[in-house]
Amino acid sequence: MISFSEALDIINNITINSENEVLVLENACGRVLAEDVVSDIDMPPYNKAAMDGYACRLSDIDKTLTVVEEIPAGAEPSKTIDTGYCSKIMTGAMIPDGADCVVMKEDTELLSETTIKVLKDKNKANICLKGEDVKLNDTLIESGVLIKPRHIAILASAGYSRVKVYKEPTVGVLSTGNELVEPDVSPDKSKIRNSNGWQLIAQAKQYVNSVRYFGIAKDDVDDLYSRIKLSTEETDITIISGGVSVGDYDFVPQIIDELGFKSIINGVAVKPGKRIVVARRGDKFIVGTPGNPVSAYIQFILLIKPLIYRLLSSNQEEQVIPLPVYESFTRKSGKRTEFYPVTVSEGKVRFVDYNGSANIQAYSKANAFIEIEQGVMEIKKGDTVNVRFI
Ligand code: AMP
Ligand code: MG
Repeated sequence: MISFSEALDIINNITINSENEVLVLENACGRVLAEDVVSDIDMPPYNKAAMDGYACRLSDIDKTLTVVEEIPAGAEPSKTIDTGYCSKIMTGAMIPDGADCVVMKEDTELLSETTIKVLKDKNKANICLKGEDVKLNDTLIESGVLIKPRHIAILASAGYSRVKVYKEPTVGVLSTGNELVEPDVSPDKSKIRNSNGWQLIAQAKQYVNSVRYFGIAKDDVDDLYSRIKLSTEETDITIISGGVSVGDYDFVPQIIDELGFKSIINGVAVKPGKRIVVARRGDKFIVGTPGNPVSAYIQFILLIKPLIYRLLSSNQEEQVIPLPVYESFTRKSGKRTEFYPVTVSEGKVRFVDYNGSANIQAYSKANAFIEIEQGVMEIKKGDTVNVRFI
């Protein structure tokens, strides 16, 4: 069985035919740039007042000055500043010719309607110089960057009302199991509620817009086949929970095969979720996660999220932060890399009470999980662990 890092390498090395599309700015967040973003202007585009005050000459500081005009933001100055003169100016407005500083309003005294006295004998320039942030034709963001809100501000400032991005994959989710009922049903003795379907939809929706639900499939070859087939026809990534194990009713691997998909990952030495299967046919993917709720949840973060990023044409890395544990921990077997729920507060990692892969409720208290590497049986107080926030 391959290790988690080998599985991640397989996902991160997937190549697909990525197509482009052009989106209006308000829809571009969360997508990956398919072009370099180049500025069509200097920024700032003119010498700009950094303060509300009076634009004058530094050599005139400490003098009484005559105010020749008022320059609000957005207006062009009409007067040149000579010695002994100044213009009232607002933050963001164009500095008039002849002025080389802005005296803050608070550092002046109004002597009459048209005369002021500067109360200081030293002054900073308080001018943002033309092009000091960005020059015309500078590349501001490179193709391949995942667009975040901060990039939207940069795109807008550089004149991009539309932007070229890679197409995003669509996702289909289905649950499997004769024991499952939907959340609005009170389960009778032999039934449990379908939590995975809704959890997987919620996670997928964080990364792509189109997530479709294909319901609960019975542990029946025909029902499973038709639902999985439909999802693979109508979406790019089909995520299935349950039915990938070795039980008599675990038909998912057989159906993946019958649909002509070839597995690229077939089991990973992780806990929970070692039976995960990832299969590919052309640019379509099926991921089968084990049905235990923590397995399905963790496997989404560990492997399905990177798969979605890959199909978005991004190699976005998961943030893994090394932090010290506040209490010691032991486990019985070190055969697999294990992921364990924790709380992190004031930089201290504490273990959450956790009964294993069915116990998704333990995750209501957790705000992170840690990775316990293969071979590690014991973690001592103060040891550093790798933390992923959730
Ligand atoms: P399976 O992987 O199908 O063998 O299921 C493993 C365990 O996960 C069983 O106890 C199932 O009842 C449970 N399970 C399977 N699917 C779901 C689901 N959609 N929601 C909650 N639990 C599930
Ligand atoms: Mg099952």
